[in-house]
Order: sequence, then C-alpha cells, then structure tokens
Amino acid sequence: MTSHLLPTYARVDLAFERGEGVWLYTAAGERYLDFTSGVAVNALGHAHPRLVEALTEQAHKVWHVSNLFRIPEGERLAERLCAASFADTVFFQNSGAEALECSIKMARKYQSVSGKPERYRIITFEGAFHGRTLTTIAATGNKKYLEGFGPPVDGFDQVPFGDLEAVKKAIGPETGAILIEPIQGEGGVRVPPPNFLRALRELCDRNGLLLIFDEVQTGIARTGELFCYQRAGVAPDIMALAKALGSGFPIGACLATAEAGKGMTAGTHGSTFGGNPLAMAVANAVLDEVLKPGFIDHVREMSLLLKQRLAEIKDRHASVVAEVRGEGLLIGLRMHPPASAMVDELRAEKTVAVAAGDNVVRLLPPLIINEAEIGEAVARIDRACARLAQEHARAKEAAS
Ligand SMILES: *Cc1c(COP(=O)(O)O)cnc(C)c1O
Repeated sequence: MTSHLLPTYARVDLAFERGEGVWLYTAAGERYLDFTSGVAVNALGHAHPRLVEALTEQAHKVWHVSNLFRIPEGERLAERLCAASFADTVFFQNSGAEALECSIKMARKYQSVSGKPERYRIITFEGAFHGRTLTTIAATGNKKYLEGFGPPVDGFDQVPFGDLEAVKKAIGPETGAILIEPIQGEGGVRVPPPNFLRALRELCDRNGLLLIFDEVQTGIARTGELFCYQRAGVAPDIMALAKALGSGFPIGACLATAEAGKGMTAGTHGSTFGGNPLAMAVANAVLDEVLKPGFIDHVREMSLLLKQRLAEIKDRHASVVAEVRGEGLLIGLRMHPPASAMVDELRAEKTVAVAAGDNVVRLLPPLIINEAEIGEAVARIDRACARLAQEHARAKEAAS
C-alpha cells in the first residue's frame, strides 16, 4: 500500500480502532495487550472515563484562547504541579522536545542574567534522548539523528552515562548546566549508578551550574514515585515533563525554581498552543487520578509483581533474557537475541512492547494495570521467550 505520510517511521502493519484500559482493539476486533502505552504516554490506559469526561466537558466550553489571556485551568495545573514538586513556576508546551527547548533556553538565560553569558554550554550523557528538534538532537548527541541536518546546534558536551570523573573534566568556564534523564528510557532503561544524581547535584552547587532533569518519560508515577528524582532524593533546578502528563493528550511542561526561571521575563518565550484549555483540563484530570491516595502504591505493587515474575522468566530462559532492569513500570528486558525479535514474538502473542537502545525491550504498561492483567502479560512473555529459546537451541545444534 502506498502512503502519503513521510516515511520517517518503520511502522508495523497494525492499526487500532479503539482502546479500553490496558487493551487495544483492531477494526477486526482482535485484542492486544498494551505494554507500550504509546511510549510511556497512556498512564491511565485507554478511554479512561474521567479523562473522556474532562475532555468532552472542556470541549463544550472553550478549546483555545491563546496566552494573551489568563487560562484559569492552566493556573490551577501549574499550582498543583508546583505543590507536588520542587518547582515554583511552570511553562506549558505541547511536547517533550519543546519542554526541553524551554529548559535549555532557561538555563542559558539564567546564566546570562546572572552576569555569566559565556556559560551557555550544557553537559549531556551518551545514550540520552531529548527529542528531535535541531537543538534537542544536538543535546541527544546521537550521530544517527544528526546526520545530514547541517552543523549541530553548538553548546552541548557529551560524556559517558554514569561517569562522574568525565563530568568533572567536562566542566569548563563556559559550562552552565548539566542535563540528564534520571533513568534513560530510549537509551535502554539505563539506571545511573547509586548516588550519581546526588553527586551531580553537589557538582552543580559547587560550580554555579543548573541541574536539569529530563523526566519526559520517567515523570508522572512511571517509576513508582510521582517524579523519578524523588527516588534519588535530590531535586533539580529545572525539569521537563510531557508524555504521561496528558495521558494521551499532547502536552509538555517545563518546571523550575523561581531562581532558575528568573531570566524568563515577559516576551522571552512563547507558544501558541502551549497550555491550551483542552490540554489543561485533561492534565488536571490526570493529576486527580495520579494524586489519589493509593495510586502510586498500586504502581509499586504491580512493579514488584511484574519484576518478580520476569526474574523467574529470566531464570527459565537464560539463553534469551540477559537482564531485567528499571524502576516502577519502566522495565527493560535486556535480550540475548535481537530485541526486535522479542518485540515480534510478543506481537505474535498479541502484546505490544517497544525496543530501546542497548538491545532492550521496554515493558511500559498503563499504570492502572491490575494483577490479573500482569498475570496474562507474564504468560505471553513466557511463551514468546520459550519460542526464542527453542530457536536458540536449534541454531546451536545446527552449528555443532
Ligand atoms: C519522548 C522523550 C522526549 C521527546 O518528547 P517528544 O514529545 O517526542 O518531543 C524527550 N526526552 C525523553 C526522555 C523522552 O522519552
């Protein structure tokens, strides 16, 4: 079939017509277990009644007014995000990359208005993913994403993930900030070494640098804390959010302390759609659910259960699964066979998961998943692994 869509994605030939909870349905009525959540987006699953209600209610009132006017629902969302985090101030956008753009601009502006305009450089980490705009591909530093798009935006110095000595060495007179995902998502669910984030915080404080956390994938309870930084016990100065904040409605947010945001005065930044009433209504409804007592406990319980069962699968199929890693419901299976083969086998089991760097398959169920659904997923993952183990055994036999 020819398509008029720009072919930048290697899409699977599969389309879903509707969803409900952790399930997706094709037009033919085939049911798939969603272990992708639109890449860590649909935290509350599909067609959550409260989200449908919030969106339709707002749709009957007003969709868009622009940021020339006050948007009360946005003021309320910002207030709630600040109350639940380290932040004092929020800027809303429509995507993760935009939230990072704002974070990067803010860090540069902070140094500039602090009398250090030369401190525009930001230290980033190998294996990072920060988005696909010209600036965020430079921050990401992946050659594959930079190739052919002209000179990369200047101002990023990349060091190996988890290497504190390399960070220290990279700090120079032009360094203004350090940008890191508290757990790398696209990079392969890579958790930094213990105390690494704390050490970065200390380095920043000692050198007058801002610490920026990219929580676009880890934020909104995905890792079993509302924000992943809470696990580490250190707060950033700036944090980018997106993905699960709208649970499927496009939204991004840049959160900051008043001090870090002090340069972002009237006229310094803007967005036509950012913070529009529809997005604000949905994100407020997402917070209603996620902040309910017990929600995060549920994520932790499901995480524990899934990780225990995955550890058993790893033991049973040691030729297939090399490692189970991650926090909360951001879980990675590092594979011996290609991760893509596992994604295909899972799809044959009517389960959708997504590959990441480091030969990892990411398991990202909606956070509302229940025990029975975890059990069903585990059975499917086990069967997929068993087939790959069989293949492995056959290949080994043929080679001997
Ligand atoms: C997805 C992601 C982004 C980019 O978000 P978009 O909405 O695709 O622009 C940035 N950082 C991290 C950590 C992500 O996972």
